[in-house]
Amino acid sequence: MSVFIGGAWPYANGSLHLGHIAALLPGDILARYYRLKGERVLYVSGSDCNGTPISIRANQEGKTIREIADHYHQEFTESFSRLGFTYDLYTRTDGAFHHETVQRIFLDLMENGHIYKKETDQMYCETDQRFLPDRYVEGICPVCAHPSRGDQCDNCSTILDPLDLLEPKCKLCGNAPTVKKTEQFYFALSAFQEELEAYVKEAKDRGAWRENAIHLSERYLKEGLLDRAVSRDLPNGVPLPVEGYEDKKVYVWIEAVSGYYSASRQWAAENHESDEEFWQGDAKAYYVHGKDNIPFHTIIWPAILKGIGVQGLPTHIVSNEYLTLEKRKLSTSKNWAVWAPDILDRYNPDSIRYFLAINAPENRDTDFSWREFIYSHNGELLGAYGNFINRTLKFIEKSYEGTVPKAEVDSSIKRTIEGLYESVGRKIEEGHFKEGIEEVFAFVRFANKYFDEKEPWKEIKENRASCDQTIATCMLIIANLSQLLNPFLPFSTKKVQGMLAMEELNWAFVACETNTVSNIKPLFERYDVKRIEEEVDKLIKESD
Ligand SMILES: [Zn+2]
Ligand SMILES: [Zn+2]
Repeated sequence: MSVFIGGAWPYANGSLHLGHIAALLPGDILARYYRLKGERVLYVSGSDCNGTPISIRANQEGKTIREIADHYHQEFTESFSRLGFTYDLYTRTDGAFHHETVQRIFLDLMENGHIYKKETDQMYCETDQRFLPDRYVEGICPVCAHPSRGDQCDNCSTILDPLDLLEPKCKLCGNAPTVKKTEQFYFALSAFQEELEAYVKEAKDRGAWRENAIHLSERYLKEGLLDRAVSRDLPNGVPLPVEGYEDKKVYVWIEAVSGYYSASRQWAAENHESDEEFWQGDAKAYYVHGKDNIPFHTIIWPAILKGIGVQGLPTHIVSNEYLTLEKRKLSTSKNWAVWAPDILDRYNPDSIRYFLAINAPENRDTDFSWREFIYSHNGELLGAYGNFINRTLKFIEKSYEGTVPKAEVDSSIKRTIEGLYESVGRKIEEGHFKEGIEEVFAFVRFANKYFDEKEPWKEIKENRASCDQTIATCMLIIANLSQLLNPFLPFSTKKVQGMLAMEELNWAFVACETNTVSNIKPLFERYDVKRIEEEVDKLIKESD
């Protein structure tokens, strides 16, 4: 089976924070899982280096767009690597490959009759003497009356045209813009209405999209799809591949989502591979992002793919809800955020992955608090998982002089483990990562209980054969936990596999072949609970 996984493309205009990581982590869990299973996986993403947020930041800091993009792209690459994300390609949208692919897609859509030219009204700032990109216009959302940007309302998720805004203002100078005529190119999205209705209905029946994705897509379809301008007068981006219009740029609606395709093509070219299989109708295609990105992946991207005759539409939409921080909405402008480079400097990446997997905002917003974070590490990762491994290995070191006893293992536990591969695997495939890791940790707690009840420290004196069986069973559990937890906790499972000299990993029951253990070190360090207060103080002090 071929599995394509597309992680959302973070804007290269500011550091990644835990909200981004919570939205993107499912992609890496999927990629690791499917590779363990032996499937052909292509997992791609990249930094969005076009678009207005970057030019806004560059203006503010007196830097070039390229300098800003380089800085954050480099930082993103490092953060993802420190978090253990296993992208097959993590690229950027200001590269030649992306530009050429987007232009090709634009021309194909035009040749197939899906793009047309039209005279239109656009916001123009007399003070700044320029047409204003959507995000350069701010005002009041006509639907929910909250303050909103010109492209989309963050409060009610309505996709907007800046002309819809009430009380519009230029973001650059604060004055009210005027309206001027200009020519733009339009994507005939309305023509895909019926096809997309059938597509969303099929996804709903299959149950492979998050509920928020189904709801929002149904809402857009119910409101009726409108043709959308896909060219803009922007300072940066992909130039329009149409003679006489090279000054205009391909708008983010087509440009950004096409990154999945251009990254795939780039990966294929750089690795002398073919990526055709990932774009066929029978490939699985997961798209992993936050809920604000839903319509681009469930409506726009499928319409573009249909428009250029590509069969491989998104099959699974993994669109997380939001992560709050200490019960408050994350805000980058107010610096109410935990930044990825910062938390990675001081905490184990598996602690972060564990917390964001087991508290994943899958069906509702969830909260990150330093208290919960420290306690979940100390109590569950260290206290349950780390402890089970440590007590077993230490016992072998002490009572068996490091030689792992060979014995028939408990057959009911063997069956439980086999069942876990099937059940946890299904949960991962269906996008229920939280339930998946919960199930493995329920088994970790069971394993500790098994150890307590067997009392090997007594067995070793009273019934050596029985003790051999207990310890052999515990070792079997550890070997299999290291595989079952690999998609979630790659760093600590790698350590365990090192201790057990396991070579090849699979997503299937494995016997424990280890003969000796030595040099036992705890898997995790305990975090001092004093850190909770320190971290919360730091957060409050540094926020505005
Ligand atoms: Zn609104
Ligand atoms: Zn202005």
